[in-house]
Amino acid sequence: MKLDRALGLLREVPDFPLPGVVFRDLTPVLADPDALRAVVDALQDRIHPDTQLVAAVESRGFLLGAALGYGWRYGVVPLRKPGKLPSVTHRVSYALEYGEATLELPAGSITPGQHVVVVDDVLATGGTAVAACELVEKAGGVVTGVSVVLEIPGLGGRERLAGHRVDALLTV
Ligand code: AMP
Repeated sequence: MKLDRALGLLREVPDFPLPGVVFRDLTPVLADPDALRAVVDALQDRIHPDTQLVAAVESRGFLLGAALGYGWRYGVVPLRKPGKLPSVTHRVSYALEYGEATLELPAGSITPGQHVVVVDDVLATGGTAVAACELVEKAGGVVTGVSVVLEIPGLGGRERLAGHRVDALLTV
């Protein structure tokens, strides 16, 4: 399937999870085997060739990250919300529009010097991706880029990630 047809399956859900927010729902893309393959292939096409490991952001990043890891022999590390991991090496908290969020890195998951791509579904303000890059770097990893399916421009995400390669399949 062509990438633009696959991305055409993305669903817009107005006023979720808050009034005024348009939620970009990847579910129909994931549920279609040809669309899933087209999107994962396109993510892989843009990943820096030095990459050894995928750092996948909870939770939709897990699905994309695992597919990339299996398909192209990367290891996969889940970056998790608090309270899920039995052993945590590093933790980064960051501001959300309302409140705060935290991501945690499992102990022993990144070897210093390893080349790591951060994978998630959507880049909005960039807070999540910046925190993910910080976690990788705290563990001594080298961030090769941030790969997302969808970038929402105008919220400062790309700017906050200045210095990192950012690859988005679609900008809305
Ligand atoms: P941000 O930290 O603002 O860049 O937000 C990115 C994270 O929040 C990603 O993990 C996304 O899954 C989620 N996210 C933020 N905004 C949206 C949106 N409009 N639609 C779907 N997911 C979103």
